[in-house]
Amino acid sequence: MILHSPWRADFPALAVLEAQGQTYLDSAATAQKPQALIDALTGYYTCGAANVHRAQHQPAERATRAFEDARVKVARWLNAAGPTEIVFTHGATEALNLLAYGLEHLLQADDEIVISALEHHANLLPWQQLALRRGARLVVLPLDAQGLIDLPAAAALIGPRTRLLAVSQLSNVLGSWQPLQAVLSLARAQGALTIVDGAQGVVHGRHDLQALACDFYVMSSHKLYGPDGVGVLYGRGESLLQLRHWQFGGEMVRVAEYHRAEFHAAPLGFEAGTPPIAGVIGLGASLDYLAGLDATAVETHEQTLHRALLDGLRQREGVRLLGAPSVALASFVVDGVHHADLAHLLTEQGIAVRSGNHCAMPLMKELGLTGAIRVSLGLYNDGGDLQRFFEALDRSLELLR
Ligand code: PMP
Repeated sequence: MILHSPWRADFPALAVLEAQGQTYLDSAATAQKPQALIDALTGYYTCGAANVHRAQHQPAERATRAFEDARVKVARWLNAAGPTEIVFTHGATEALNLLAYGLEHLLQADDEIVISALEHHANLLPWQQLALRRGARLVVLPLDAQGLIDLPAAAALIGPRTRLLAVSQLSNVLGSWQPLQAVLSLARAQGALTIVDGAQGVVHGRHDLQALACDFYVMSSHKLYGPDGVGVLYGRGESLLQLRHWQFGGEMVRVAEYHRAEFHAAPLGFEAGTPPIAGVIGLGASLDYLAGLDATAVETHEQTLHRALLDGLRQREGVRLLGAPSVALASFVVDGVHHADLAHLLTEQGIAVRSGNHCAMPLMKELGLTGAIRVSLGLYNDGGDLQRFFEALDRSLELLR
């Protein structure tokens, strides 16, 4: 029986891609967009663009209201305590860089910043560079055989010098939910601030950030079926008070003189310059769309597809899965076949998957690999997509072996 996605028709690009002979299986890189978002962007630009938080004229008021409504929607989506805990950035990467500069003043020489071995470069390099600036140490938590942060090792490595812990909720390579609660509480017990990279995790299920009790959480809109160019930094009320301002310019300042200035608190104080207005409004529309779906049906669909993906890969001789993926994606290598050759043949057959190091070079090195193929699923994918992928995979492997 072919598995259908009841939401596929809500994403016009899927039909266009299909007509072009393309099977899109790269949603962990970026997701296709629902019509609701496209309508919101068109609506905003058609009705009259205006800057936010500045002018009093009617278009500006309308834009500001829509922009601030989106902040409320994001706060609700993440179960933040309120919209003032939501800072808009230009992406998850920028949100992590904001944190690495905004928290810099808390670090002394020999303090420790703890990350895990599987971090995306976006959650590695800002901390590595911060450690270099401050003479602090970057401590890397190892993984167990399943690709999860090794908890006994974490308990030994997180200690009184740990000031910051920054870990992913869901690995973009291994697709495994990390034991966040346990790792965060180890850090909290040492008085460290906790930062969660939710770029992949936020896409699957709903996450209650008050229950998670992290200090900061970052995500990208474009992976959550929203526009690109928008990111979110969530910060718990009192944790945001620890952040120093990092980018300076219009609207983040309360009083500006030639030789001194006073800045706004979060969120506005961390949104210097014109924000991505249309993008933020579009993210609000995507969240409205997602909130209107049957969450259980989405989860069941994603799980069924994911199981079919894993089963199909496991059935093929010589295919080696990386880690133990729990949701939405699978990375693999094939014995005796170079990932780039396989990716080339898949691409020629219209299969849009990602190959390479997935912005996690140190993890690849730990796994003894130079790269892997990653297949990732969105809620619009269906059994036909998987069937085309597996047919193309079998043809490619026949040619390569
Ligand atoms: N963290 C993880 C786990 C990711 O997968 C990504 C995107 N590939 C990022 C951070 C960075 O997100 P962005 O490129 O949207 O800033």
